Amino acid sequence: GATLGVLGGGQLGRMFVQEAQAMGYFTAVLDADATSPAGLVSHHHIRTGYEDAQGLAEMARLCAAVTTEFENVPAASLDLLAQTLRVSPAGSAVAIAQDRAAEKAHFVRCGVPVAPHAVIESPEQLAGVSADLLPGILKTARMGYDGKGQVRVATPAELATAWQDLGRVPCVLEKMLPLAHECSVIVARGQDGCIVHLPVQRNLHRGGILAVTEVYDENLPPAQASQALEAAKSVANGLRYVGVLCVEFFVLQDGSLVVNEIAPRPHNSGHYSQDACDVSQFELQLRCMTGLPLVQPRLHSPTIMLNLLGDLWFAHGEQPVVPDWAQVLQLPGCHLRLYGKAQPKRGRKMGHLNITGATPEAVRATALKAAAILGIAPF
Ligand code: ATP
Ligand code: MG
Ligand code: MG
Repeated sequence: GATLGVLGGGQLGRMFVQEAQAMGYFTAVLDADATSPAGLVSHHHIRTGYEDAQGLAEMARLCAAVTTEFENVPAASLDLLAQTLRVSPAGSAVAIAQDRAAEKAHFVRCGVPVAPHAVIESPEQLAGVSADLLPGILKTARMGYDGKGQVRVATPAELATAWQDLGRVPCVLEKMLPLAHECSVIVARGQDGCIVHLPVQRNLHRGGILAVTEVYDENLPPAQASQALEAAKSVANGLRYVGVLCVEFFVLQDGSLVVNEIAPRPHNSGHYSQDACDVSQFELQLRCMTGLPLVQPRLHSPTIMLNLLGDLWFAHGEQPVVPDWAQVLQLPGCHLRLYGKAQPKRGRKMGHLNITGATPEAVRATALKAAAILGIAPF
């Protein structure tokens, strides 16, 4: 069988590898960490950095096609691999997703609404920021995730201090918006430009990290859902994107929709598709990268996903204690997914729990019971 490669060894890579293996492929993971979740389960684990010429050459030798699970793989490495094999998404698309300023400019080009914002790369730009953008959130243009590299600022003085504290690196200041809720859409775009999508996800974030995703028919007003879907498609088309792309949105209190950011890969908010859809986001990734047909996924069950952060291991003190999985698994429709990370840490994504059931109400009741058992705050 052919070997499929993934750059990055985190949980997204692990779940991709598991899907690829289920479909009979061999897998190769490039990640320097010997205990990376994907490396642990892959046929091949190339343990070098993402820019290492030998590691990349080994990937090119082994693989029929390569994808990425880590957002910050250098675009140049993807371009290099693309000289000899199929690479999706392309370096050019990933490069835009890696830079909030370029990303915002792309959204504007596509005609999708974005938060009022300003790019701050110099003291002059800092001084010239309009007071209309405050209170706001200062975000580093590159490398941020799970709310890291972000500071909330209310005054010009706080803004100046925050930029200093972030190391005076290129940043984007975004106006703080009155959110009603958040949602996201996962689209998969094939080499022929054909697009399929997962149903629109309704997301709850806590402390800048995704906590809960809820999906069922009409989890959002239909007009909002179709607006999000159309916006996600134009963002993907505008990039001539090939692969799985997640587009995150804010729904404002007046009901209007604003695009937040994109992730050029499967996304935490799409994990429910493993158990609630007839095609998972990881199978979509595989179909895109290998040129297999894309069929429109169908949600066959209402679902809630609960993220399992390392915090749950510290409910009883500083010594980590494994949560009581058996008690959770007594509940109907609970699908436990753990990533094989040895060290629980606060804020670290250790796994997730997909809950399926006959009705949204039943799923919600089960999810609240599971949350109570695990010490996750109700939602
Ligand atoms: P991810 O892990 O999704 O990549 P990130 O670190 O890139 O996250 P953002 O998505 O920019 O961070 O922001 C994280 C969360 O902070 C958002 O989901 C939202 O809850 C809140 N947030 C971010 N920007 C704004 C804003 N302009 N107004 C209000 N809330 C915001
Ligand atoms: Mg992000
Ligand atoms: Mg985000």
